[in-house]
Amino acid sequence: VTQESRPVRTAAIIAVGSELLTPFRSDTNSLAITGRLNEIGIEVASKQIVGDDPRDLATAVTAALERADLVVVTGGLGPTSDDVTRPTIARMLDLPLEENGEVLERIRQRFAGRGLAMPEINRGQAMVPRGATALANANGTAPGLWIKVEHRRVLLLPGPPREMQPMLDVVVREYLAPSSGNMRLYRRVIKIAGRAESYVETLAQPVYSRWLAADPRISTSILAAPGQIELHLGIRSDSADRARMSLERAIGQLKAVLGLDIFTDDGQSLEEVVGGLLRARGWRIAVAESCTGGLTSSRLTDVPGSSDYVDRAAVTYSNRAKVEWLGVPEDLIRDHGAVSEEVAGAMAIGVREGAGVEVGIGISGIAGPGGGTEAKPVGTVVIAVAWDGGQRVQAFRFAGGRAQVKFQSSQAALDMVRRWLLEQPQSAGRRA
Ligand code: AMP
Ligand code: MG
Repeated sequence: VTQESRPVRTAAIIAVGSELLTPFRSDTNSLAITGRLNEIGIEVASKQIVGDDPRDLATAVTAALERADLVVVTGGLGPTSDDVTRPTIARMLDLPLEENGEVLERIRQRFAGRGLAMPEINRGQAMVPRGATALANANGTAPGLWIKVEHRRVLLLPGPPREMQPMLDVVVREYLAPSSGNMRLYRRVIKIAGRAESYVETLAQPVYSRWLAADPRISTSILAAPGQIELHLGIRSDSADRARMSLERAIGQLKAVLGLDIFTDDGQSLEEVVGGLLRARGWRIAVAESCTGGLTSSRLTDVPGSSDYVDRAAVTYSNRAKVEWLGVPEDLIRDHGAVSEEVAGAMAIGVREGAGVEVGIGISGIAGPGGGTEAKPVGTVVIAVAWDGGQRVQAFRFAGGRAQVKFQSSQAALDMVRRWLLEQPQSAGRRA
């Protein structure tokens, strides 16, 4: 194996920036970098965050070089004195820094393009360790650097994501992918609504634990958030067809135990799935929201093209709004309370009939932290789905703070619509 062709199998990521060690900024670059590397079969073996400190950075790079074929350092390439990445790495690797005329010219031109002279401080960004390749930065002044260290590689990328991302794409395409062979990581994301993590885990674990012993092995991670559980399946393979078949078989096994609780097996959002089901039937939807304050309709309209099936939405927060806009009978609210099956049902029917569309949703609940009673504590939410000739109403008791209750309510509403739509024939056509 020559130095040139030795494939990169493992990577270590180091994010540099003291702000990343505060509660105000998080290191998102390493996630983007991991995603791109995984796609070409490179596994991330470790990652670290260090402040703008040369000693800490040098320690981290030394450790990373010991265990990974590729070390990616992001951040600290700016022109100011707290940007220590370039000189620290050059010193560590014993590479003299030399001014690169081409890079200097690019930086000058970047300023000239805005009618400015290059500040002297930016000159440092044109210093390139001997033997390293400077990577053009389309969105900033700091060039990236690609350095070969015997059979290992060190990649320096700028911190700002919009500068880092396009540079990473170029490096993956031109430097890493050509020598990565055909090995790729293939992923499928399965999502489940309306079930607790323990429920999903109990049913799914016996299934996916078998895959660990399979060849090729399928790895599974379970990501839980209130209202949504995700199962991420990954397989490393040099054949796209074989990977696809293995994943398809695996997903079939999960579907056998989880059934309709799975709303997508290819990473779609719940609002996309509901939109697809409405579109397939040529139906439109109208939404009446109280405690969710428009979140459900906001999510529905996050999907491009949703104007084909979203007709309207009303945020009817007050009782008066429910009466005036949706025609909810006043005595219904008086007798049962705004958070009741009767009122949620009347909201769904009212908004649907007012819009003259096929499906209506009504949501009424107590998002908290105030407003709860013994009979209807915070987190009590009633959701109704109405259609021509029928309705379905369900009461929920969600846990968590205001934001979680709002999200879970919108999730439950969309999921009720999804399950109802799945029971309806596809070719029904418009019927309002
Ligand atoms: P730099 O000058 O290269 O250190 O980058 C500075 C800018 O990029 C700051 O706005 C940082 O918050 C942002 N940044 C740096 N590192 C990261 C990271 N790992 N993830 C997300 N943003 C980052
Ligand atoms: Mg920085």
